[in-house]
Amino acid sequence: MKPLLYYIFIVAIIPGMLIGVQTQESKINFTDHGGTQTYLSMRYPGYEKEFLLGHYDPATYPNFSKAYRFCKEGNIYLLDEVYDAFIEMAEAAQKDNIHLNIISACRNFNHQKALWEAKISQLSAGLFQFLDPLRQKQIVELALQFTAMPGTSRHHWGTDLDLNSSDPNFYDSDAGIKIYNWLLANAADFGFRQVYSAHQDRSGHDVEPWHWSYYRLSIPMYFNYIDKIKNSDIKGFSGDAYLSELHIIPMYVSGINPEMK
Ligand SMILES: [Zn+2]
Repeated sequence: MKPLLYYIFIVAIIPGMLIGVQTQESKINFTDHGGTQTYLSMRYPGYEKEFLLGHYDPATYPNFSKAYRFCKEGNIYLLDEVYDAFIEMAEAAQKDNIHLNIISACRNFNHQKALWEAKISQLSAGLFQFLDPLRQKQIVELALQFTAMPGTSRHHWGTDLDLNSSDPNFYDSDAGIKIYNWLLANAADFGFRQVYSAHQDRSGHDVEPWHWSYYRLSIPMYFNYIDKIKNSDIKGFSGDAYLSELHIIPMYVSGINPEMK
């Protein structure tokens, strides 16, 4: 009996356990307006590290489009599915006399690096490389209040949008409150959620009422990122040496609205 059970275990149970694990990992549950649904990663079989880190050009990357409707700025790129969903949302908003427009969408690594370096340079009066490590770390922490490190920004994914204004004061005005309340009430119906939300248990970047993400694609991307990206993959900019010490991935990349992961 013992050898037979042994073979049953090897032939049937172990592969069954492996399949079970794979199936669990390949499904992503999220709560939609229709209830809890499951996205099969078969539809989105996986994202390359280089894509997740923003090392590509959205102007030539497959399934990306240049946005021309409901945009305040030029050169706005985002994934086709995200753009279609956004247009649907912006048209619905218009019927409620709410005017949505995109001020920033896909930013690749180099684009994010330019924003990051400008902020570091501003905060250190251009002297970052000459500062001692403790002061450098403080400058990096300060910069993180305004912008994500290159390689850790969700804007690399083509799923995340900044809407109307990135000035927090705007969202204290009547016009800003009206837009924000409309988004809170309706955006999820079109596949969008606020990433840097007001949840108490969230770490990382400050609340951003303007930053919305197409969660139907960005949730699978987030899980790909957490599975695949290591600190050593994120480099090539001022302050990259503090990535691990400042717990950038757990505190910032994962410091998002709990409904986004
Ligand atoms: Zn943003």
